[in-house]
Amino acid sequence: MAEPVDLPSRLGILPFRNKVLLPGAIIRIRCTSPSSVMLVEQELWQKEEKGLIGVLPVRDTEAAAVGSMLSPGVGNDSGERSLKGPADVLDSQKQDGKNQQKLIHWHNRGVAARALHLSRGVEKPSGRVTYIVVLEGLCRFSVQELSARGTYRMARVSRLDMTKAELEQAEQDPDLLLLSRQFKASAMELISILEQKQKTVGRTKVLLESVPVHRLADIFVASFEISFEEQLSMLDSVDLKVRLSKATELVDRHLQSIRVAEKITQKVEGQLSKSQKEFLLRQQMRAIKEELGDNDDDEDDIASLERKMQSAGMPPNIWKHAQRELRRLRKMQPQQPGYSSSRVYLELLADLPWQKGSEEREIDLRTAKERLDCDHYGLVKVKQRIIEYLAVWKLKPDARGPVLCFVGPPGVGKTSLASSIAAALNRKFVRISLGGVKDEADIRGHRRTYVGSMPGRLIDGLKRVAVNNPVILLDEIDKTGSDVRGDPASALLEVLDPEQNKTFNDHYLNVPFDLSKVIFVATANRVQPVPPALLDRMEVIELPGYTPEEKLKIAMKHLIPRVLDQHGLSSESLQIPEVIVKIIIQRYTREAGVRNLERKLAALARAAAVKVAEQDCMVQLSKDVHPMTSSLLDERLAGGAEVEMEVIPLGVNGQEISNTFSSTSVLVVDEAMLEKVLGPPRFDDREAAERVATPGVSVGLVWTSFGGEVQFVEATAMAGKGDLHLTGQLGDVIKESAQIALTWVRARAADLKLSAAGEISLLENRDIHIHFPAGAVPKDGPSAGVTLVTSLVSLFGQRKVRADTAMTGEMTLRGLVLPVGGIKDKVLAAHRCGIKRVILPERNLKDLAEVPSAILAGME
Ligand code: ADP
Repeated sequence: MAEPVDLPSRLGILPFRNKVLLPGAIIRIRCTSPSSVMLVEQELWQKEEKGLIGVLPVRDTEAAAVGSMLSPGVGNDSGERSLKGPADVLDSQKQDGKNQQKLIHWHNRGVAARALHLSRGVEKPSGRVTYIVVLEGLCRFSVQELSARGTYRMARVSRLDMTKAELEQAEQDPDLLLLSRQFKASAMELISILEQKQKTVGRTKVLLESVPVHRLADIFVASFEISFEEQLSMLDSVDLKVRLSKATELVDRHLQSIRVAEKITQKVEGQLSKSQKEFLLRQQMRAIKEELGDNDDDEDDIASLERKMQSAGMPPNIWKHAQRELRRLRKMQPQQPGYSSSRVYLELLADLPWQKGSEEREIDLRTAKERLDCDHYGLVKVKQRIIEYLAVWKLKPDARGPVLCFVGPPGVGKTSLASSIAAALNRKFVRISLGGVKDEADIRGHRRTYVGSMPGRLIDGLKRVAVNNPVILLDEIDKTGSDVRGDPASALLEVLDPEQNKTFNDHYLNVPFDLSKVIFVATANRVQPVPPALLDRMEVIELPGYTPEEKLKIAMKHLIPRVLDQHGLSSESLQIPEVIVKIIIQRYTREAGVRNLERKLAALARAAAVKVAEQDCMVQLSKDVHPMTSSLLDERLAGGAEVEMEVIPLGVNGQEISNTFSSTSVLVVDEAMLEKVLGPPRFDDREAAERVATPGVSVGLVWTSFGGEVQFVEATAMAGKGDLHLTGQLGDVIKESAQIALTWVRARAADLKLSAAGEISLLENRDIHIHFPAGAVPKDGPSAGVTLVTSLVSLFGQRKVRADTAMTGEMTLRGLVLPVGGIKDKVLAAHRCGIKRVILPERNLKDLAEVPSAILAGME
């Protein structure tokens, strides 16, 4: 390529319409017009040695800007002669088989080209000759004169490119050196980018080394897609500096566009590939499912959801809402973030019992009463109240009576009474535990905008029972608290208000749900913590604890049969005699209800179940042992292996075993078994006597959420500055009671003969410490007043208190004793602990009527 070309003075001219052939570029053209066919035939095909032709750009007049005459040398090569010659010529050319007269505009600079390849063809029916020519551009020339030879043109041309000597001299120019370095750098970059893309390492780079830079400029530019004008201006850049700077600019521009294009593709590819991938995977999944005959497609899934929704019997406005949501779901892809939450929501809408309720039967009061009696021992008043409630319900089903609230210590049967009500009304029963609920959202649900949002417990409970008229037990309604997350009590108010609960609004559900058919029953351990507004909606029915006799009856009649049944036993396999139950009540449990009693009985039943199961197992084993072992023996003998001693129980047949078993099959619990299963007794009646053995300890009666309890108060004195220390997790009220007690005792010190007449202060040089044992249990309330006084008097007087006497009562500063609550529970607690005398405020005398007479008879 680098060798200089002998340019003849005249060249046959091939017009190149709206295109430019640059030196170094290679093109393939098909010649069909008579003039170009003639040109190729005469100038190339018929020449012995390889001929040259001139390729001259021409431009259609309609493509040319109006009024712009051909002005050659648009570049800055000012030293060039320009020719305003016979530029516009009428030329007749055949195009697309039509003869067209066209004014064509010859450029006055062109490129000499040689044919690298020539092929001649004859079109079949017409016999027309065509040529396909591969041309390589060699060097620039300028046209001095154009003339016609036959149908094509000849031009007198002069060479524009420098001679070798001129070139060598020009290359010394520092400006040119700089420009060529710049160009090479850009070209290098472009090549690297292109090679990266096409992975043709090193091939193009060789070009950069071997080809002179001015030719490289042409070669590079020839490969770009640039406008005709730009191509022309490149052709016109005869001056090397102009050519190089132009080429550098074009290469840079090309680089830029590649980079931009790359960025865009990257972006688009990123987005596209993800969704395309999803699409492809989904298509594949569908194909796999089809192949497997697996029909539970998403489509079917949604269709079945819709059917479910249709049969849910939603009210019209809610149905509209649900359909809107379903439409939204249909538009989503299963992988989309909101899809599953939307689905779960719609499932809930479809599952909720909008219309469905348990069949409401006529209430038969007699059966209801029988049922209550059968499930519960005692509780006469409570059962009576429940029957009244049911009677009103029977007469006026839509009368919204107050909500029943059972209040009492744990294990007294509150929950089981509520479930008996449900059974009597033939309704389903749901228990919603409110213990520890501090968040309003627990009742009302979280809005669906929150991640992991759920419906509240009420809606959830209704979904579970799938009827809209169940009995809902709001368990431990006194244990709800309130904090920053809202007040559950206010939500409960709405639930229990017959006016408002027709349109109960759960935040998650976001559409109203009618709770008016639900029967609410509540339970609480104590009344005080229940917010007054809530209490106002309820009728409190108190269930005090049971006496030991009642417990015994409950155990014998209800608990033992139930426990046996739960453990797969019967009275034929396990018997727990009354004396044993009494021992359990007295020494193993000390509670108001019967829950622990039930647990202890269950522990006995478990132990018995193990024994019975073991015996069962032995019987079966022994039956199987013989044949199994002998076959084992045979096997070993046959195998010739060493025979070990086998113990084969001989003479024991199935008959004998079942006899031995049946003789031991009734397991009767005795004290030994009791101790083995339940451990040593936890309580005994001598506890009080042991504890009050020193002065300063007195026995009080308190009332907690577990019912009444015996509470010791311990006081002691030590050297100090007259301070009062109080411990045992005490609340403010009980602390103040201690202060009052101390003040009162000090004021009466002389009357009580606690100090010599002259000595005023009992606290001189000593500190008093009062402690309420069971230090981990929080205590509060005013009823320990008298107990505190007794303890202090006992301490200062150094006299022991009576172990068989417990007391309760609030003290005023002046020494008045005020009445307190929970008398029945407290008396029962004293009785449980074997205390025979109880000191109560006089004004509490009327409360003794509640205490069972059997207990009162044994007490003073
Ligand atoms: P609560 O709800 O008051 O804590 P439960 O209703 O759970 O107590 O009762 C605990 C257990 O004691 C249950 O098995 C219940 O049947 C039983 N129970 C309580 N009181 C009686 C009673 N009067 N008659 C029969 N069983 C009772």
